[in-house]
Amino acid sequence: MSRQIYSLLAIAAVTLTLTPAPALADSPANQQAAKTAPAPVDCEQLKCIALTFDDGPGKYAGTLLDTLKKYDAKATFFLEGQYVKSRPAYVKRMAKEGHELGNHSYKHLNFTTIEPGAIRSEIQKTQDAVKKAAGVEPKLLRPPYGMADLQVSDIAAEFGMPIVLWTGGSRDWSTKNADAIKKQTLAVAKRDGIILMHDWVKQTVDVMPSLVKTLQSRGYTLVKVSDIVKKENLAAGDVFPLPEGWEN
Ligand SMILES: [Zn+2]
Repeated sequence: MSRQIYSLLAIAAVTLTLTPAPALADSPANQQAAKTAPAPVDCEQLKCIALTFDDGPGKYAGTLLDTLKKYDAKATFFLEGQYVKSRPAYVKRMAKEGHELGNHSYKHLNFTTIEPGAIRSEIQKTQDAVKKAAGVEPKLLRPPYGMADLQVSDIAAEFGMPIVLWTGGSRDWSTKNADAIKKQTLAVAKRDGIILMHDWVKQTVDVMPSLVKTLQSRGYTLVKVSDIVKKENLAAGDVFPLPEGWEN
C-alpha cells in the first residue's frame, strides 16, 4: 500500500471516530470545521522531519512559502519580532498555509547575557507582533543562538512555552552554498529530526525544491516541529533536545 493511500485511510479512520451525532453532523458549522480542519499527522506512523527557519521572516520567505506549498510540505518559523513587524504579510501567509510560528526574540539578543526584564520584553514584544500580524500567538520558544540557561527556562515557563532547539544544523548561514546546504542537511536528516535553517539565506531558499524532493523521495514527511515533539509531552520551560551538560 502506498504511503499516500495509507495516510488517507488513517485520516478517514480518525474522521469516522470523530464524526458527531447525526443530528449535528449536517450543521453548517460542522461542515465548515470538516473543510478547514488540518489533516492529523502521526509521527509514530510516518517518517517525520521538521525543517525550522530562524530569524525571519527573511526577504526570501515568499519564495520559500511557494516551494513548501508546491510540495505540500509544512515547516516551522522561529520568528524575530522586529522582522514580523516589517514583513507582517509573510507571517500572515505562514499561518494561513498551515505552518507553525515560534518565538525567536525581538532583536536576537543573547538571553543568557541580558537582564530578566529584557528577556521578558523580547518575548512579549514578539508574541504581540505575531498576534497582530497573523492572529495567533507562538507556543514555542527558541532563544537566539539556542542559548538557554535555568533563568531563560524559568522565564519561558512564565510564558507557558517549552524551548525547542534542533537536532542538526544545515550550516547555511556559514557556507551560503546551495550544494553544501543540501549535502549537510541530508547528512543530519533523520527520523523525527529537527533541522536548523534560515530563510534569509538565499541559497537555502534556492536549494529548497531539490532538498524537499530528495527528502520526500527518501520517505520523509515534512511536518511542523510540534508534531515531532508531541510524544515528548513537553511542559512549559522544558528544553528539547536537552543541550549537552544540561541536567534536568
Ligand atoms: Zn537566530
